Formats: sequence, structure tokens, C-alpha cells
Amino acid sequence: SEKKSLNFIEQIVEKDLKEGKNGGRVQTRFPPEPNGYLHIGHAKAICMDFGIAKKYGGVCNLRFDDTNPTKEDVEYVESIKEDIQWLGFQWGNEYYASDYFQQLWDFAIRLIKEGKAYVDEQTSEEIAAQKGTPTQPGTESPYRNRPVEESLDLFQKMNAGEIEEGKMVLRAKIDMASPNMHFRDPIIYRVVKTPHHRTGDTWKAYPMYDFAHGQSDYFEGVTHSLCTLEFVPHRPLYDLFVDWVKEGKDLDDNRPRQYEFNKLNLSYILLSKRNLLILVKEGLVNGWDDPRMPTLCGFRRRGYSPESIHKFVDKIGYTTYDALNDFALLESAVREDLNARATRVSAVLNPVKLILTNYPEGQVEEMEAVNNPEDPNSPVHTIEFSRELWIEREDFMENAPKKYFRMTPGQEVRLKNAYIVKCTGCKKDEDGNVIEVYAEYDPHTKSGMPEANRKVKGTLHWVSCNHCLKAEVRLYDRLWKVENPRDAMAAIREEKNCSALEAMKEMINPDSLKVLDECYVEKYLADAKPLDYLQFQRIGYFTPDKDSTAEHLIFNRTVSLKDTWSK
Ligand code: ATP
Ligand code: MG
Ligand code: MG
Repeated sequence: SEKKSLNFIEQIVEKDLKEGKNGGRVQTRFPPEPNGYLHIGHAKAICMDFGIAKKYGGVCNLRFDDTNPTKEDVEYVESIKEDIQWLGFQWGNEYYASDYFQQLWDFAIRLIKEGKAYVDEQTSEEIAAQKGTPTQPGTESPYRNRPVEESLDLFQKMNAGEIEEGKMVLRAKIDMASPNMHFRDPIIYRVVKTPHHRTGDTWKAYPMYDFAHGQSDYFEGVTHSLCTLEFVPHRPLYDLFVDWVKEGKDLDDNRPRQYEFNKLNLSYILLSKRNLLILVKEGLVNGWDDPRMPTLCGFRRRGYSPESIHKFVDKIGYTTYDALNDFALLESAVREDLNARATRVSAVLNPVKLILTNYPEGQVEEMEAVNNPEDPNSPVHTIEFSRELWIEREDFMENAPKKYFRMTPGQEVRLKNAYIVKCTGCKKDEDGNVIEVYAEYDPHTKSGMPEANRKVKGTLHWVSCNHCLKAEVRLYDRLWKVENPRDAMAAIREEKNCSALEAMKEMINPDSLKVLDECYVEKYLADAKPLDYLQFQRIGYFTPDKDSTAEHLIFNRTVSLKDTWSK
């Protein structure tokens, strides 16, 4: 097999190892904020973080970046763990940024004492207004040079609940004229009074992302802190805080380094937990695991295999520039994977009755159906055949054009796994709707029989009317009408000065879910369970929905199939 070339992160890691950085260790982390369910973008980061550790004999830990109690919840913590495991990865340790609140607090106190941090009593608007622009220096806060004792006292009060939210922040004292905006005295602590899902009301002053992330990496011994491109401008600050926290250990090489790769952005897909939360809260979808959602639990419920997501991530790769990937790539990855994995079954989604007028009434034959023709050792299952069958309404045409190879009077077609039949006509109701189709079967054409190999262009699927199960089938289409929902949403909001929700309502596809409630599937599916990968022959890949029961079968369409063996 061909040797895959290294991606740019792998090249960096190999170079670091060669140079003996961090004593030749590799340690990564996947650092989700538990403020929503994981989406397909996170899968790209997960494959990178866990993949690097695995490839280089290191460890990848799971670290919840839980520094924002107003948005976080244990429900999200649990779902994140489930989804990572579903993708086939297992973390070394389970860490929480909140485990470092004391260490971070002590570090902040030290910085105040060293004159490297101060409490600012201005509002966030005032602070923002003083930031300056990339070409113009900012303005120093009037509190910047206040006595250390005052800052120490106020910082304690921030954490004791004596200061209202938004009234005071702790800022690092760096450089208000730095060309890097992140160095212009960044806010490192703020007051939040909402109880934290793990630490309750122990803390009222919470570290900001930039103050928590790099230090957490350092405390844990992370060597390669992999993240997405929007953090490139944060990197100098990341390094500076690590320098500061390493106090006295500046000479050793034991430190985390941040490397960035491009975010996943997919056509017709809107990512970001913040946006997905709006969809869920406002009822535009039926929960985080709605099969139209780009969440991992949504894809799982829709019938995507974890392997298909791996395949997709492999196809798109990692780069250092943002791009919009084609959703068709994800669909082709899932088709490719399910083709090898899915059990072939028969289901009729838009039924019309076919009567084989020369087939004995009451006779039933058990036909053999191969579960997966892609697998030479595939098992088989049986499917009953009888005089009355359901076929797809689209597979019959009374007056067909020349190249119509399905059922039309006078033409032969093959019924999959059964006989060749010749259509003889149909019966219609007073409105002209076809209600029954008639055909005669040729008893010498069952597979293995002498006439079985007769050339017939069309092959149709069917189920026996007396030997099938009724089912509901849910067909999903794209959730958004626009190709780049992220940019479209920004444009709509800018133009109309409206909320995210209003912009979403303009972009949403009203036909993203079509429910067919009178479908028929073969009996073999009576015990099908969610995560069983199925191919409804000639239609697409399907999986039982989590709400499917023996009394009310429900199947989700994972992805349609390019019709390969008829038409
Ligand atoms: P969201 O905006 O969806 O909440 P986030 O970056 O805030 O995304 P985190 O929970 O902080 O979500 O993300 C954990 C990791 O996943 C981070 O390292 C982040 O860079 C990565 N990540 C998030 N979205 C994507 C994406 N679209 N493509 C690749 N990696 C992503
Ligand atoms: Mg984040
Ligand atoms: Mg986020």
C-alpha cells in the first residue's frame, strides 16, 4: 500500500521529536468547552488530537475547558464523552480547567504582586474603546498604575461576591502599544455569579480563556497544543503566560507549544455550538440529535458510521488556510463506507400493488437474499415471495418512453432474488390513478434455473403484501437553502440588523424533512436496531430511528443511493 505523506502537523511533531523537545514526549489534549454537543468540526480536531498522540506513542487527554459557568452543563460533559468514544477514541486522563482554579488564582495573585496585573474598574465598553486599532496604540487605563495593595484587595472582593458582574476585571499589564492587539492589557479575570457545574459557588472570579488554556496545558504537561487558526494571533500571549507561569524554570525546555490548523467549514452546514443551541432552543429542529443536525449524535442517529467520518476527515486533510468543503465529499465518504458495511434489504416507500395473475393463490416461496454482495462470505437471509407484492409506484408506467426499462405493459423485468415477470396491464380508479398492476411470472427464471440468465434490462425490488411490515420512513434533505450558511447568516444580520434566529429563519429549508408513513419493509427488519446499517436496495442507506419500536417501525434515510442496477 502507498505510504501516506505526513500532514504539516505530523511534520512539526517529527521535527520536535528529532530536536528532543520536551524530552521527546508527545502529549496532546482535546479541550472542548462543555457548552453544547460536539459537531463534525470537532471530529476533525478529535482525529488530529488523538491521532497525533497515537501515531507518536503519546497520550491524548480530555480536558473540559469549563471556565464559563453560565453556558456549561454536565449534560454536555456526558454527551461529549459518549461522542468521542463513538468515534473510537479513548482519552488518557479526564481533566477539567476548573481543577486548576486555585492554581490559576495563585498565579494571578503573584502577577499582581509582581506588578504584572491590575484591577480595572472601567466597563467593558470603556476598555474596548481604549484598545486602539492595529495601527494606532491604545490608551492606558486610569487604573493601570494603581498600588498593588489596592488591586490585591479588589481582586479578593471580586471573588468574594462583593463586586457586581461587569463592574471590575483583572487585566494583565503588558503593552497598550503592542502591534498584537491581544497584548494590550488583556482581561484575565471577570466576575460571574452563576454557580459552576463542578465548583458550585466557591468562585466568583473566573479566568478568561487566554489565561486558563495555556496554563492548563502547562500544568498537565501538554507538549503539542493543537487548535484552529483563529488562535494564531493568541499564540504570543499563550507563550508569554507560559513564560510567566514557568517562573524559575525558564531554562528547561519543558513547555507546551501551540500549533494551528484550519477549521472545518462545510457547504450547506452551519456549525458552532452557539448556533446549534439556537436551533434546539427555538425548536427549529427536534433536539441536538435531530438527524438534520451536524452534531455527532445527529449523524449517528441518521445512520452515519464512525468510520465514514474518519474517511471524510482523511479526505479533506489539514491545512493552514480556511476553505469551504463540499458536503458531497462527506456523503461520498458515507456511501463508500456503508457500501461495504450495510445489509441489503427491500423496502417499498411509495407502494402500488402488483398481482402476478398466473402465480398460484396461497403459495409462498422463500427466496434467498444476499446480505452484502460486496462481501464474498456474506450471509444470506430469506424473503417471502407470493402472488401479491408491493412495488414502487414509480416502477410502473402505462405509456412509457422507449428507454424505460421498468414495468410497462408487454415488457419483461426481473424481480430481485425472484422471477422474471411480464407486465400485462393495470387497473385504475375513476380519477385515473393506478391502483393495481398486473403481470405474469415465468416459472423457469428463478435464480439457478435454466432461464434465469435471460437478458432483461430492469430489476425491481418488491416485498410480499402478506409477509411485510408497515413502516414510517423519514427522508432528510439539507437544513439550509444557502451554500455557505455561516457567511449568509452574517450578511443577513448585517443587512437587516436582526437576531441570529431571524436570520436562520430566512435561510432554513422548509422541506428538510419528509415523512412517508405508509412504507413496507421485509419482515427481516422486525428486529432491526438503531446503528444497524441498512441499504434499502435501489433507494439509499437507512437506519432504524431511536424511536422505532416493533409496533411502529421508523427508518431514517442516511444518504440516498445512486441507482446502480436499473433505470
Ligand atoms: P464552537 O464555536 O462550535 O462552540 P469552539 O471552538 O468554541 O467551537 P470548543 O469546545 O472550544 O468549541 O472546541 C474544542 C476544540 O474543537 C477546539 O480545539 C477547537 O479549535 C476545535 N474545533 C471547533 N470547531 C471546529 C471546526 N469547525 N473545525 C475543526 N476544529 C474545530
Ligand atoms: Mg472554544
Ligand atoms: Mg465556543
